[in-house]
Amino acid sequence: MIPQSFQYESPGSLSEAIAMLQQYGEDAKILSGGHSLIPMMKLRFATPEYLIDINGIPGLSFIKEENGILRIGALTREADLEHSDFLKKKFPIFSDATKLIADPQVRNMGTIGGNIAHGDAANDHPAVMLALNATIVATGPDGEREIPIDEFFFGFYMTALQHGEILTEIRIPVPPSGTGNAYYKMERKVGDYATAGVAVQITLDDNGVVTAAGIGLTNVNPVPLRAARSEQALIGKPLSEASINEAAQYASEDCNPSSDLRGSEEYKRSIVGTLVKRMIHQAVNRANN
Ligand SMILES: Cc1cc2nc3c(=O)[nH]c(=O)nc-3n(C[C@H](O)[C@H](O)[C@H](O)COP(=O)(O)OP(=O)(O)OC[C@H]3O[C@@H](n4cnc5c(N)ncnc54)[C@H](O)[C@@H]3O)c2cc1C
Repeated sequence: MIPQSFQYESPGSLSEAIAMLQQYGEDAKILSGGHSLIPMMKLRFATPEYLIDINGIPGLSFIKEENGILRIGALTREADLEHSDFLKKKFPIFSDATKLIADPQVRNMGTIGGNIAHGDAANDHPAVMLALNATIVATGPDGEREIPIDEFFFGFYMTALQHGEILTEIRIPVPPSGTGNAYYKMERKVGDYATAGVAVQITLDDNGVVTAAGIGLTNVNPVPLRAARSEQALIGKPLSEASINEAAQYASEDCNPSSDLRGSEEYKRSIVGTLVKRMIHQAVNRANN
């Protein structure tokens, strides 16, 4: 299908983009990689009158560590996350997740900011952000504000971003040594959205006691879901098959998948349980190496 006609704008700075968003109000939408927005416009699920393309704004694409914080610019492409040597060392979960997103063409254009701002529980980054306890940085007319990831997703395709705000950065605490993270999603075929996906980050102390755990789930709830009971089942005790099984059981109970073309509710709950176990083991292997 052909999208409805729109006016295209290409601001050269963040302040110019924010001014345009204020001027055009609800009729404007931000364009990043375009790989969720353009398909929605073609289907006329989105009919913006103004497209504010932020790709020409310098300084929004970066991956760096500063003062114990991993900082990722909103316009960083999936391909950059997939191939970053720095991320592979400390955050292999990004390579795990991005290489499962769509295909190389989509990954060359799609951005982490767009993936998160879209607010789609089927997208892979939201679960990773939950596991890593990310903070989302939104920049608007009043400057920058930080939004904890647990307050960011709150409805079907709804996020805490206010009109006039642009997601500019993601900040993630760099975890201590003894930490590992991992992501995997079950998909019907290469490039598909998740039937179910699980992101895990675990920190173990020298005695093998779990001191921190983050678990996020993909596409098994109307909004990206933190498996909070599963995290609590692991924290404060030595990791054991019993605690891992308990965490898996809680996650499969606490998610809310719907039966659809990708499988029945029961099947998806079962995948969640299996993937929670596998990703905990994978994260712990990485923590130990
Ligand atoms: C064939 C195909 C398969 C795909 N498979 C997967 C998959 O398996 N897993 C997955 O996670 N994703 C998948 N995607 C989605 C892809 O990752 C998108 O690129 C991503 O969801 C959106 O990022 P984008 O940069 O393209 O954003 P856009 O499409 O440009 O924008 C998406 C939405 O976010 C808003 N937005 C964008 N950037 C910002 C910002 N910086 N601040 C505020 N609002 C913003 C836009 O206004 C729009 O509403 C697939 C896409 C396609 C076409």
